Amino acid sequence: MTTSISKYSMGIGDRFGLEGVAQLRAFQVAKEKGVTITPVWNKSNREHSLIGTRPEDVRAEADAAVRSCQWTGEHFVDADHIGLATVDRFLAASDFFTIDVADSIGKAASDVAIGKYVAEMQRFLGALSIPGIAAPVSVSAASLHEIAGKYLFAVEEAGRVYRHIAQQKGAGSFVTEVSFDEANTPQTPAELFFILAAAAREGIPVATVAPKFTGEFLKGIDYVGDIKRFAREFEEDLAVLEFAKQTFGLPASLKLSIHSGSDKFSLYPIMHRAIKKAGAGLHLKTAGTTWLEEVVGLAAADGEGLAFAKSLYRDAYGRYDEMAKPYLTVIAIDRAALPTPDQVDGWCAQEYVETLEHNQACQRFSIHFRQMVHISFRLAAERREPYLALLRSNRRSIESHVSDNIFKRHIGPLFLGIAT
Ligand SMILES: [Zn+2]
Repeated sequence: MTTSISKYSMGIGDRFGLEGVAQLRAFQVAKEKGVTITPVWNKSNREHSLIGTRPEDVRAEADAAVRSCQWTGEHFVDADHIGLATVDRFLAASDFFTIDVADSIGKAASDVAIGKYVAEMQRFLGALSIPGIAAPVSVSAASLHEIAGKYLFAVEEAGRVYRHIAQQKGAGSFVTEVSFDEANTPQTPAELFFILAAAAREGIPVATVAPKFTGEFLKGIDYVGDIKRFAREFEEDLAVLEFAKQTFGLPASLKLSIHSGSDKFSLYPIMHRAIKKAGAGLHLKTAGTTWLEEVVGLAAADGEGLAFAKSLYRDAYGRYDEMAKPYLTVIAIDRAALPTPDQVDGWCAQEYVETLEHNQACQRFSIHFRQMVHISFRLAAERREPYLALLRSNRRSIESHVSDNIFKRHIGPLFLGIAT
């Protein structure tokens, strides 16, 4: 029973539910190297509906993996990106809730609520200095009103969702994340500070908060954006969190959560240095890349596995619009750069693997091909039985790819500071 989570944690998704053990092995390797990272199995409502799974399936998978690996540390099951309309089916199986209020940003709180909030925040008017941020943040009455207009209703909504969960499950029995990452615009450090103030007023024991950062966090590929700017923003957000904890009495373990965090290779060394310097914790949320490792593992196994991977691509290519539709804001696929299915059919196992696997040093690697396969997991769900049969008959090839991907490409550089 807890409302907090350890300093380092990582969200892992597993679309088809067979890779829990292989995923957890990566955390065991980290632990053997002296760094404990808490695994959090996350799956959103959208993902459940696209694949036809239930939150109970994730719970069963996570608990089975923990038993099988004799993992003695904590682990969680995250109801990812839920709101009042979607949370109920997650209540029994989850003990981590990512309350997504991005849709409520910009909706107006009542005049009375805004008036009270702004009055309470008057004490920060003027030049607000936050330890760790070089220049003081200037706070005016106008900027307070603007922030309240933009975010107060969203945080009130997060409070409603939090209280609903607490009523059903009991306060103190789950971890709460509040996410703004699917907002249209990034939050400035000042906005994050006043958002946290509002969250404290709502009585939400925020364990992790997911802001939207500048730059693009596309699915399964590296960060696209100004790395220096990201580095500054990330360090400032760490400073804001520390200051907000002291100022508003938020949980001491409060930390940042990075969404769409898989494969952000150019950011991991930066985040590693920053959290070490600040002594801060971090939650990295990844989701879909375990599915890609399954396809890599199947292709590498050659034979039927490779044949399935090729025919999956043929389907995906032919149904591009349908596959891309739910992901248009989080992918950047140049269709002209995609190989044709006939070309792919001519590839050997190694060619398929090298084009898909995220190795930026490899000439053959294609971010377009990778994203295309990434968003096409529904096609495997359509052929569930043959797909699951192949996953079962190619365990060794797949599991080593799943574990290595999580440890070597993600945990190593981000949490242990191991260069890739
Ligand atoms: Zn998110």
